[in-house]
Amino acid sequence: MPVVFFGHGSPTNALEDNTATRRWHEIGASISTPKAILCVSAHWCTQGTQVTAMQTPRTIHDFGRSLPAPLFDCQYPAQGSPELAKRTAELLAPTPVTLDQSWGLDHGTWSVLTKVWPEANIPTVQLSLDVGLSDAQHFDLARSLLPLRDEGVLIIGSGNIVHNLGVMEWSEVAEPYDWAIRFNDYIKSCINDQDMQRLYAYPDLGDTARLAVPSPEHFWPLLYVLGTRNDDPIEYATDFIVYKSLSMTSLVCRDRSA
Ligand code: ZN
Repeated sequence: MPVVFFGHGSPTNALEDNTATRRWHEIGASISTPKAILCVSAHWCTQGTQVTAMQTPRTIHDFGRSLPAPLFDCQYPAQGSPELAKRTAELLAPTPVTLDQSWGLDHGTWSVLTKVWPEANIPTVQLSLDVGLSDAQHFDLARSLLPLRDEGVLIIGSGNIVHNLGVMEWSEVAEPYDWAIRFNDYIKSCINDQDMQRLYAYPDLGDTARLAVPSPEHFWPLLYVLGTRNDDPIEYATDFIVYKSLSMTSLVCRDRSA
């Protein structure tokens, strides 16, 4: 299986037909149907590591009431996979993993998957982000998940390389901030060179980094994709910045032989 990072942007993408959502659908069409999906969403941050282990995860509408009413009616009725949850915990050992029965699928997962596989017919499990880990520790944890790729599981990271809602402008035509372009380009060059040390050193960019990553939760899912990349070449499926400060960069890492 490939591994995919989706720059998910606004939850309203779930209702839209735009350049990003059309590309997300094409990514799905280019991948043979996975046995199951393990998604690391920016929107599930926990103390310690957790994995959703229920048979029927609920659709979580984890966003403000100011968003359009139809978003609150969206359902993504994919089944869970207690087996994949257990397998994930086994692979992450000795890191303790809680088998969660209360979370579900948050919008980091379903706002994208509803475009990739609208049929919701692939069992889907979420892995949480342990807020106590450093960037390097997230990457190292992800490396233990590599065997899942050979077991037919599609690993997805759903976040945004540049994510600053505080200075965002809801304009379709606004030019991105210079720092947003600079940060996105910096991270892509680290990815292209497979230079994780340079990537971890992004705080050295000063204001550029502070503005692009005011908090790390949208950045971390990328580390799970890079951690399971396994030297695969990168395809940038989408690569642009919307609302001045949200980067919609998505990438697919495919095994050369696939
Ligand atoms: Zn988000």
